[in-house]
Amino acid sequence: MGKLIIFSAPSGSGKSTIINYLLKQNLNLAFSISATSRAPRGTEQNGVEYFFLTPDEFRQKIADGEFLEYEEVYTDRFYGTLKSQVEKQLSEGQNVIFDVDVVGGCNIKKFYGDRALSVFIQPPSVEELRKRLNGRGTDTPEVIESRIAKAEFELSYADKFDVVIVNDELEKAQAEALEIISNFLKK
Ligand code: ADP
Ligand code: 5GP
Repeated sequence: MGKLIIFSAPSGSGKSTIINYLLKQNLNLAFSISATSRAPRGTEQNGVEYFFLTPDEFRQKIADGEFLEYEEVYTDRFYGTLKSQVEKQLSEGQNVIFDVDVVGGCNIKKFYGDRALSVFIQPPSVEELRKRLNGRGTDTPEVIESRIAKAEFELSYADKFDVVIVNDELEKAQAEALEIISNFLKK
């Protein structure tokens, strides 16, 4: 049976960049594809980045108990981890890596205990976070400000995680993540 690696962080911290780096290493990692009711962005495809559902389809799956955890971030905008998806990947012997928000991350850790490692990616500062979000160029200024506003709350969760990695210099953070995760998977 595989293990679980949970990544959470404020948006713009560099979580996706580090996860994509780890997926290219020889760690037998599979990305956990979440379900969401938001619309696909850019080149996103159903079944690759997310399973895209309508809000009603999402609510039906909640009623059927299909989620390991889920959240309604605001009205009709849901994100959640499907039990079936995670169990399938784990039973195939893969280690599963998650990109979820801080609350979801803590819930998954609580459920799987020692089989899971929860990792918080911390930006050097909120100012740097704003710079990275601007640099990424995928969000409007309003969306960037709402992400920054949420970051303060998310940063307060850091000490609930097994490990905190400060992503200041990317190469250093990637090397640190690789070492920590390799060690965890060896145990
Ligand atoms: P997240 O998945 O946490 O929202 P991303 O991985 O998309 O964050 O990173 C946000 C932006 O910051 C991207 O444009 C990325 O290339 C850049 N970035 C990531 N890590 C660093 C770093 N250590 N220094 C500078 N820029 C970074
Ligand atoms: P985005 O809309 O930018 O793809 O994602 C927004 C946020 O939703 C990110 O912080 C991401 O970590 C979180 N997220 C993605 N999938 C899940 C999930 O399955 N559960 C929870 N709780 N959060 C998720």
